[in-house]
Amino acid sequence: MELIRVINVEKQYKNGVTALYNLNLTIKKGEFVFVIGASGSGKSTLVKMMYREERPTKGQIIIGGINVAKLRNGKVYKLRRKLGVVFQDYKLLPKLNVYENVAFALECIGMHKSEIRTRVLKVLKLVGLKEKVKSYPDQLSGGEQQRVAIARAIVNDPKLLICDEPTGNLDPITSMEIMGVLDAVNKKLGTTIIMATHDRDIVNKMKKRVLLLDNGQLKNDYMEGAFNYESV
Ligand code: ADP
Repeated sequence: MELIRVINVEKQYKNGVTALYNLNLTIKKGEFVFVIGASGSGKSTLVKMMYREERPTKGQIIIGGINVAKLRNGKVYKLRRKLGVVFQDYKLLPKLNVYENVAFALECIGMHKSEIRTRVLKVLKLVGLKEKVKSYPDQLSGGEQQRVAIARAIVNDPKLLICDEPTGNLDPITSMEIMGVLDAVNKKLGTTIIMATHDRDIVNKMKKRVLLLDNGQLKNDYMEGAFNYESV
């Protein structure tokens, strides 16, 4: 079943730069998709439009039946409940411990304490951080902080997980560990994952679908990601 449809999407920023031209693609439920390309090719712009941080200037983006491009500001929360986002710089709350960071969003929507506890411990186990529930972000390595950020993003059981350069601050070994976590989320929970990255090694090792952007255009859509990347 289809989860995302991007139809004739163009994005021009206010300064006149066109970041994406006439983009068309579909993504099915349960897929793991990399978005790759050189710096400035439009990767961040594409994923930001999916979580409605940016809006396209033309075209439509439909995610789980919601027309994201047309979504009013007051309705964005409806979309954000369906998806989780992971960033390069983790964005954890420094004064909350690991458990509290992951529980926070569930508390905000008024979920019962015992249900929160079950969910938080389940996702912390999945990302391999059950022993660190009481640690604070500044007591964790970069890789551990990113695991917390992933746990936080999936605790509400979203259909879609969007990752924007999630390994950008991590060394190659830690990056592969994080990819193992994302692969487990994709396989065990069935979460659809879209990940923007410029890390060739990761993409080549994971062998997933790869969307290659080049100067704001979709240059290639490979089903199994060992890619010839010379042109980028
Ligand atoms: P990537 O993630 O592949 O590095 P981006 O989507 O960040 O690419 O950028 C694509 C193009 O859009 C670049 O030319 C960039 O300078 C431009 N751009 C990105 N964000 C903005 C913005 N907020 N305002 C104006 N131009 C932007």
